[in-house]
Amino acid sequence: MKKAKIGISACLLGFPVRYNGKHKLDSPLLAALEPHADFFSVCPETECGLSVPREEARLFGNPRYPKMITVETRCDLTRQMIDWADRKVRELREEKLSGFIFKGGSPSCGLKLVRVFDHQGEEAGYGTGLFAQAFVRQFPDVPVEEELPLRDFRLRDDFIKRVLLFHDRQCRPPAMGQITAQHHTFRELLDRNHTWPCLFPFKFIAPMEKLHDILLLFPEEEPALRSSKEGKYVSVTIRKHVRSSDEVVACYNRLEGIKGVICL
Ligand code: SF4
Repeated sequence: MKKAKIGISACLLGFPVRYNGKHKLDSPLLAALEPHADFFSVCPETECGLSVPREEARLFGNPRYPKMITVETRCDLTRQMIDWADRKVRELREEKLSGFIFKGGSPSCGLKLVRVFDHQGEEAGYGTGLFAQAFVRQFPDVPVEEELPLRDFRLRDDFIKRVLLFHDRQCRPPAMGQITAQHHTFRELLDRNHTWPCLFPFKFIAPMEKLHDILLLFPEEEPALRSSKEGKYVSVTIRKHVRSSDEVVACYNRLEGIKGVICL
C-alpha cells in the first residue's frame, strides 16, 4: 500500500513564504510524521497571488464570516482568497489527501481560534482562516489539525492513527452497493416522512470541545444549543435546508466522523 499523503501549510515545511519572508519549519513534527506519510505543501497566500514579503493581513468583522484585510493599508483580500481557495480545494480532490496540518493563527491557514478584530482594531473573537474553512467544507471527513497541538505526543499519535485509518479506507476499492442496509432503510424512512426540499432538523449530542468542528460543517445555519449540567456535553439542533434524503445521510455521515458525536 502507498504511504498516506498529508497536506501541510508550506511554511511548516521550511519554505520562506510568510509575510515577513521567513518560515516556520517544524522539524520535530515532520520527523514524527515522515515514516507514515508524504507531504503535499500548500501556501494559500502566495498561491493566490500575494508576494513575499507582503503586508501582514488579519481577520476582521464577524468571527463566523470574517474578512481578510491587510493591517496597515486596509486592502480587502477576502474575495481574492476565497475565489482561489474554492478552486484549490476542487483541485485537491485529485491529491487524495489523508490529512492536513494547518499553521495555527494564520488568517488563511488557521483552523481554530484565529484572532478576529473589529474595525477599531480591538479583538472581537475567534474564527477560522479562509483557506482552512474552504478545506473543511470540501473535505469534512479528512483528519485535520494545527501544528501546535501535535507537539503533544498523545494528540500526535491520535492524529496519525486517524490519518492512517482514513488512508486505509481510501485505498479500499468501494464494494458494489456499499450503501449499508441501515442507511438504505433510513433513506426510505426519510423519503416517506418528508417532502423535498425541506428544512430538516439535525439533532445530536457532542462533547463540548467538538462543538467548533461541528459548527464548521454548518457555516450558514444558526444552532440551538443546550449544555449538560457539568458543561462537558452539548445537545445541538441545527435546521438546514436540504434537497434530498441523500443530502441528509451525507450530513449525518460527516457528523459521525467527528469523535464522540451521537446522532439522534
Ligand atoms: S500560514 Fe499559510 S498562508 Fe501563511 S505563510 Fe504559512 S502556508 Fe502560507
